[in-house]
Amino acid sequence: MEIGDLRKVLMSACLRGKKVRYDGGTLVVADQIVERWRLEGRIVSVCPEVEAGMSIPRPPAEIFNGSGESVLNGEVDVIEKEGGKVTNEFLAGASIALSLCHKFDISVAVLADFSPSCGSSSIYDGSFSGQKVPGMGVTAALLREHGVLVFNQYEIAEADKALIGESV
Ligand code: SF4
Repeated sequence: MEIGDLRKVLMSACLRGKKVRYDGGTLVVADQIVERWRLEGRIVSVCPEVEAGMSIPRPPAEIFNGSGESVLNGEVDVIEKEGGKVTNEFLAGASIALSLCHKFDISVAVLADFSPSCGSSSIYDGSFSGQKVPGMGVTAALLREHGVLVFNQYEIAEADKALIGESV
């Protein structure tokens, strides 16, 4: 088995040091497991929002009165702080992330928590007041709907177990 044949893991690009966040920043995760994944060639990075054509920087956006599942169901929207509706961009970004999972046969993802795209345990509540509520972002919800195990940046060891548990 060649190193390049090892099971891959999808990661939020901002966690890999890419300056793709809405404010042009990053959220680098310095972790030995992630470094091993990098050396093993396992990591596929994606920023769903940028892949969907959103700019860097861009206005902050939050899911208004709902979560990723309700956005996928068409019940609520993703709204920028200034009021612009960016639901379609968030849905497009989620689809791109799912396509990557299909392309690389990925079933484990580590996504940045609290984001309206990548959050997997909590997201901001739509009031732009810094208040978090339990819930998922749009990309995390779509991936989970399709059977991908989604972890956040505080659950890397758990993600590694899931990855290794799939054998190579
Ligand atoms: S959409 Fe995801 S990958 Fe892109 S900046 Fe936000 S949390 Fe990071």
